[in-house]
Amino acid sequence: MDFDLFVIGGGSAGVRCARISAGHGARVGVAEERFWGGTCVNIGCVPKKLLVQAGEYGAWAEDAAGFGWTIEKGPHDWAKLIAAKDREITRLEGIYRKLLANAGATVFDGRASFVDPHTILVNGRTVTAERIVIATGGHPERPEIPGAELGIISDDAFYLKAMPKHVAIVGSGYIAVEFAGIFRALGAEVHLIYRQPLPLRGFDSDLREALAEALAAQGIILHPGCHPEKVEADGDARVLTFGGGQALRTDLVFFATGRKANIRGLGLEKIGVETNPRDAVKVNEHLETTVPHIYAIGDVTDRVNLTPVATAEGHALADTLFGDRPRSVSLHNVPSAVFSTPPIGTVGLTEEQAAALGPVDIYLTRFTPMRHNLTGRARKTTMKLVVDAATQKVLGVHMLGEDAPEIVQGMAIAVVMGATKADFDRTIGIHPTAAEEFVTLRTRTRTTDMAKAAE
Ligand code: FAD
Repeated sequence: MDFDLFVIGGGSAGVRCARISAGHGARVGVAEERFWGGTCVNIGCVPKKLLVQAGEYGAWAEDAAGFGWTIEKGPHDWAKLIAAKDREITRLEGIYRKLLANAGATVFDGRASFVDPHTILVNGRTVTAERIVIATGGHPERPEIPGAELGIISDDAFYLKAMPKHVAIVGSGYIAVEFAGIFRALGAEVHLIYRQPLPLRGFDSDLREALAEALAAQGIILHPGCHPEKVEADGDARVLTFGGGQALRTDLVFFATGRKANIRGLGLEKIGVETNPRDAVKVNEHLETTVPHIYAIGDVTDRVNLTPVATAEGHALADTLFGDRPRSVSLHNVPSAVFSTPPIGTVGLTEEQAAALGPVDIYLTRFTPMRHNLTGRARKTTMKLVVDAATQKVLGVHMLGEDAPEIVQGMAIAVVMGATKADFDRTIGIHPTAAEEFVTLRTRTRTTDMAKAAE
């Protein structure tokens, strides 16, 4: 065999797996067809957060007046922002590539596919490997409606030549609400069109309600309960028909309607690697596919599609195969964030999920952050604890408000360790902060059981 391990895909999962395996002394080959670092670095988490931060500066410039500053807010230069973002992404992509080379992996810039269970075709050459890892990630999907190709997807949003003045975003998952906040903060009129009654399906319902309110307070026009029907071109403009015949003329239709695993052209069918009906590669808890020496990690398995999960899986697999340290990654209590305006941080069970298992005590608070009493900005913070009524274990921590992702990362350690409400109560707060509310929530808001959760 040419390699002990061949990794297909140089994203968060693949780079980590290849780098750590090579560090353990394995002979590693890794192929990437588009950009090193994958989705997160190039068209995901990193550039997205830079765009969110661009929007925040605009709001701070306005809010400064409440604190005595006179700051004239000039126009925003989209081209300058995108150029700065591109420079940063190029720098990061270079680092990812160098990390692999320095670790001793053989790097292939090209698309890889299976010839047989131990043979890969890459750049017109065949290579053989003892073990193979599929780490090909996912891609955005457009809805199947007429004219869908006239709308953009998140991959395109990072390379728009000009900032649109009017945007219609279809969907209400985290990517949809994040971009709604970005475009709105940079000055566009933004419409959010989605099927559910509230945005962010799957998140805690108090947070979803608070988010809908926050989006509206930001001036985003919400269209809940609406299906997109068709998109038509009118010169450079787009006309989106939705919700039973309403038509919206806009500069940009943006579909944030879901993602699917990248398996096309890999040749999985001929080697016996099975996929589920959503095209995701099936794996067991050891990340093995239905072919024992072939593994799959990260978004291509479509379980918890987040970068830290992808890297953790890549690292665990490398340690298991070549580091004499077999281990697996728990997908329970994975904390996550939504970089909406303001952002969300969350870990553990929602009230609905927890109440389905047994009665839960709910502690909920909403308040205006201290600074906004002076700025006058209509922005509220919502914080919530979901506590097992029988054991008093904290099962879920949820927050929408400024710095929520930074705050909830620390809370996640407590939840993973199995902290109880009494542990939270005996922790002294840091004053004056929003975070201290999590350790001073003394009054139970309600107790919810299965019947009440179903109401
Ligand atoms: P990817 O990063 O997608 O990497 C797969 C790589 O494989 C790609 O580079 C692809 O080009 C390559 N590839 C595919 N097929 C082949 C082939 N046949 N041959 C060679 N190469 C191939 N996660 C967070 O944790 N926080 C966030 O804030 C966040 N924000 C996001 C925002 C957006 C807009 C998007 C789209 C995603 C975001 N994510 C976020 C999710 C995160 O980006 C993914 O979970 C993560 O990138 C998954 O890593 P991966 O290695 O599995 O896949």
